[in-house]
Amino acid sequence: MLSAVFLDRDGVINENREDYVKSLDELRFLPGVIGAIGRLTAAGFRVVVVSNQQGVAKGVIRPEALDEIDQALASELSAIGSRVGGVYYCPHLQQDNCACRKPKPGLLFKAASDMGFDVTRSILVGDSPKDVQAGRAAGCKTILALSGKTSPDEVAHLALQPDHIVADLAEAADLILREYGPDEVRS
Ligand SMILES: [Mg+2]
Ligand SMILES: [Zn+2]
Repeated sequence: MLSAVFLDRDGVINENREDYVKSLDELRFLPGVIGAIGRLTAAGFRVVVVSNQQGVAKGVIRPEALDEIDQALASELSAIGSRVGGVYYCPHLQQDNCACRKPKPGLLFKAASDMGFDVTRSILVGDSPKDVQAGRAAGCKTILALSGKTSPDEVAHLALQPDHIVADLAEAADLILREYGPDEVRS
């Protein structure tokens, strides 16, 4: 049983947009993310994307657009011999009160159950306090990346502090490999 690195999508893998990433045209990978995912998978970590996409329920994101974005990521990773182990979206509205919208940990539990790994021996990288809350609720280590929604000035005021703060996913991957290493977090 391998443990996993959960990645939020918008603000971690690709640039965040206030009006949602609605199509492939609006997808901009952040610098260094493909290499970072490649290093994590090469070290034996299972990389799983967990993302809130309430634009689906609002009707502004077509479900097919999510598939196209997944395929674009898969294609970039495939070019370096890497892949993600799974992509999990919450398509619901905040007011739907579902179990999967972060800050709830439902998406993380679903992925762990589907793939058979120990969620408490996993790490989450996100750009929002909601990500940190979801990771903590699932029993994961948490890394806040300042490449999206959270500015450096906001960090000191967060009610729930992450285990680590980094600039971006590239730095998160280096930290994970250095501090945790595959042997440290595998179950
Ligand atoms: Mg995000
Ligand atoms: Zn949901």
